[in-house]
Amino acid sequence: MIEAILTDEQKMFRRTLRDFGAKEIKPYVQEYVNRKEFPWPIIRKMAALGALGITIPLEYGGTEAGAIGVVIVMEETSRAGLRAPLTHLGACRNISEFANHELRSRYLPPLAIGEKIAAYAQTEPWAGSDATAMRATAELRGDYYFLNGTKCFITNGEVASTFVVLAKTDKTKKGEGISGFIVERDFPGFIVGKREKKMGAETSPTNEIIFENCQVPRENLFVAQGEGFKKMMGSFNGERCGNSAACLGLAQAAFERALKYSQERETFGQPIAMHQGIQWMLADMAIQINAGRLMTYDAAYKLDHGIRAVKECAMAKAYCNEMSQRVINMAMQIHGGYGYMEDYEVERMYRDVRGLAFGGGTPQILRSRVAYELLRGR
Ligand SMILES: Cc1cc2nc3c(=O)[nH]c(=O)nc-3n(C[C@H](O)[C@H](O)[C@H](O)COP(=O)(O)OP(=O)(O)OC[C@H]3O[C@@H](n4cnc5c(N)ncnc54)[C@H](O)[C@@H]3O)c2cc1C
Repeated sequence: MIEAILTDEQKMFRRTLRDFGAKEIKPYVQEYVNRKEFPWPIIRKMAALGALGITIPLEYGGTEAGAIGVVIVMEETSRAGLRAPLTHLGACRNISEFANHELRSRYLPPLAIGEKIAAYAQTEPWAGSDATAMRATAELRGDYYFLNGTKCFITNGEVASTFVVLAKTDKTKKGEGISGFIVERDFPGFIVGKREKKMGAETSPTNEIIFENCQVPRENLFVAQGEGFKKMMGSFNGERCGNSAACLGLAQAAFERALKYSQERETFGQPIAMHQGIQWMLADMAIQINAGRLMTYDAAYKLDHGIRAVKECAMAKAYCNEMSQRVINMAMQIHGGYGYMEDYEVERMYRDVRGLAFGGGTPQILRSRVAYELLRGR
């Protein structure tokens, strides 16, 4: 099915990224992981292929390749071991969809070519799944909004230059009181806080961001309170496809290693792949990856063709988040004790994939979203 829906251009883009992953990512991953370093040289090379401008219109220097483009980028880079920054793609999508021409012209071109990276700051220590409980405020005084508050778990907070920030312009309201701003890291009152110590994804720093009377020009408000926040949450559908694809990439890579290892490792006088217990694990992995891939491409295809896909995007992410954890766990099992050691990459994949099940909606929130759609006959 997937081969039938992809255009020749999309197939070529996938081939290019797969080659890029094998030559420019895979051999260098471990160096960056060991140093816990953001892989700027790799990110810039990815950008040269158009991978960072995928959610940006052509007129602002992007490649405008839609949800399927995002899926291809995320699956292939993730499969190679260093995924494209998904929150950058999401923040660029937000600016592309909601900002006026002047803001787009100012902010998007350097983001499209990877000269700068974007980040998305919504979560607060007391407001994760329930974003409407956020306490950050933005108050208009003269020509500036003054932002105050603390955001946490912000991916690439310490390396990004352009931030999409959500804050309340009306504290008395929930979602209707939230507005969106484009904030530069050099604005007065913008503080990068601590870097979190976390289980995996060492090459993608996760930071606290603090606003202390942060001075944001009034024209940088790009999503106005009222219906704005709701509309912005709608663009999470594309993010969910990208996240599902990142999970697929990791699951696929773990599966490939397990398939190979099972034919090399011998026990009881034969390769372990000859034992039915191992064969069934390999089959389960392949079945589940195939199901996840079909769900992800189905959701992305619908988004690209203007078909309502809220349910499909939520289903794909909930399924791929959990499927990839199961598949990588099986890959580790097939590697036996070696799978638990750092030398075999499944150990890193096992840690990396876990973090993908939080941002963009947890599997619980996604199930609620699926049920919401089902109960309305959609
Ligand atoms: C590695 C990583 C990177 C991140 N990057 C970013 C980023 O770049 N920008 C950003 O803004 N945020 C980011 N986040 C934050 C992420 O979006 C939140 O972690 C997520 O929204 C969940 O919020 P929470 O952690 O506060 O959990 P909570 O909302 O407190 O939830 C706790 C538990 O309760 C469950 N739960 C909550 N409500 C319900 C309900 N109604 N029904 C059933 N179960 C429920 C949740 O599923 C979860 O299991 C990142 C998080 C991680 C781990």
